[in-house]
Amino acid sequence: MTLAFDELADMHLPAGSAWPPMRTAAVQRLTAFLPLAGKVYSSRRNFDLGPGRHQQVSALSPWIRHRLLLESEVAAAVLARHRFQAAEKFIQEVCWRTYWKGWLELRPSIWADYRRNLDRQVSALQKDGRLNQRYQAAVTGNTGIDCFDAWSQELSETGYLHNHARMWFASIWVFNLGLPWELGADAFFGQLLDGDAASNTLSWRWVAGLQTAGKEYRATAGNIHKFTEGRFDPTGQLLAQPAAAEFTPPPAVGQMPQAGTIDPAASSGLLMTDDDLGVHDLEMPAVHWQAALVLDGSAYRSPVNTAAHVTDFSQAAITDALTRLAATRPLTSAVRTDFDSQTVLGFAKQHQLSQLVWLTPTTGPAQDRLPNLEADLAAQGCRLVRHYRPWDRRAWPQATHGYFRFKKALPGILETLSA
Ligand SMILES: Cc1cc2nc3c(=O)[nH]c(=O)nc-3n(C[C@H](O)[C@H](O)[C@H](O)COP(=O)(O)OP(=O)(O)OC[C@H]3O[C@@H](n4cnc5c(N)ncnc54)[C@H](O)[C@@H]3O)c2cc1C
Repeated sequence: MTLAFDELADMHLPAGSAWPPMRTAAVQRLTAFLPLAGKVYSSRRNFDLGPGRHQQVSALSPWIRHRLLLESEVAAAVLARHRFQAAEKFIQEVCWRTYWKGWLELRPSIWADYRRNLDRQVSALQKDGRLNQRYQAAVTGNTGIDCFDAWSQELSETGYLHNHARMWFASIWVFNLGLPWELGADAFFGQLLDGDAASNTLSWRWVAGLQTAGKEYRATAGNIHKFTEGRFDPTGQLLAQPAAAEFTPPPAVGQMPQAGTIDPAASSGLLMTDDDLGVHDLEMPAVHWQAALVLDGSAYRSPVNTAAHVTDFSQAAITDALTRLAATRPLTSAVRTDFDSQTVLGFAKQHQLSQLVWLTPTTGPAQDRLPNLEADLAAQGCRLVRHYRPWDRRAWPQATHGYFRFKKALPGILETLSA
């Protein structure tokens, strides 16, 4: 049994939300979008027609982010409907997410730096009244820049923004309002239903000019006017143009954590976070699971404010996943929204586990709360096995340079669909 649509009434999800937090809704949206994933998407994807009118893009991101829908199944469904050439643009966009995930896994210190600098910026907000005033105007949509204020409102009301609006918003935040990019990334992360440590942090870095040497993204009035089909014309409103932050080369590419080998005979537990709830495709050998533990990191996204619609979406998505998991395997499950390594150690002890399989460990707020987990579990006689999906295993280590080079690995990544 999955959550019924009317059960959403008690939640903070906007009434009539386009994103019910369940897999059935994700599959419905994917099915409806498939005919548009070819030519329509490639010619119309940059137009932001406003709230409730995002039909020319897939609007699948909240489900993909929690993996109620996998990138691999989205790609497979699109390629079953369109020739590769016709759907190439859409497939490439899906792979941007894969690229960002891999890029951050190979350089997790970028995430740690972001969180440290964010803490500094949050302290600065408390001390600097004028900075705080400008920040409050931006997050409440009261800057006087019409388009920006409308996007700020759309973000807080729906938990979603079109990609082009995100680019314009971030650019105006940094280059016109002169606000620190980390505070903008945090405002997005705390409000987007699809808020993701990799896609969000690295996209903000890209706009601010920190991701690629000599390249930042500057919104212009003409571009906004054209791609909003005249809904906005900020001519004369985008005045101040601070210089881009100084580019420093990213840290050297590191190694992905080693994937472990699952022992089917061991007394096993399944560990998941809100980053991968793809229980419909566990891609694992037959294991006799004793119990599953899901750690919901959504409340830890922002030190300033994580919107109720974000945590509600995440919790309901977890319920949906566990309900489907229980229908296929008789196992007990637990969900924790307030957790640390001790929570996991207690769970392993309670179920006398000798093996805990972690489905797709990724850099972000949930993993931040589990330092030394592997060693602590080992001391208790339980082996931590990191498990990565074939798509991730193939793609993430390729994110060593820019997206242009990553794209060349696409045929190999798509091969995992037929494996
Ligand atoms: C400043 C900024 C912040 C962003 N923050 C996030 C975030 O927190 N989470 C997130 O999922 N995306 C983020 N994006 C990327 C992109 O804007 C969204 O993925 C996209 O708008 C989601 O809408 P859609 O599902 O209709 O996308 P479509 O255009 O229909 O694309 C299909 C899927 O591909 C993926 N995708 C598409 N474009 C990108 C991209 N540029 N980068 C990464 N993945 C992409 C998404 O999973 C998306 O659902 C950000 C972009 C910017 C500029």
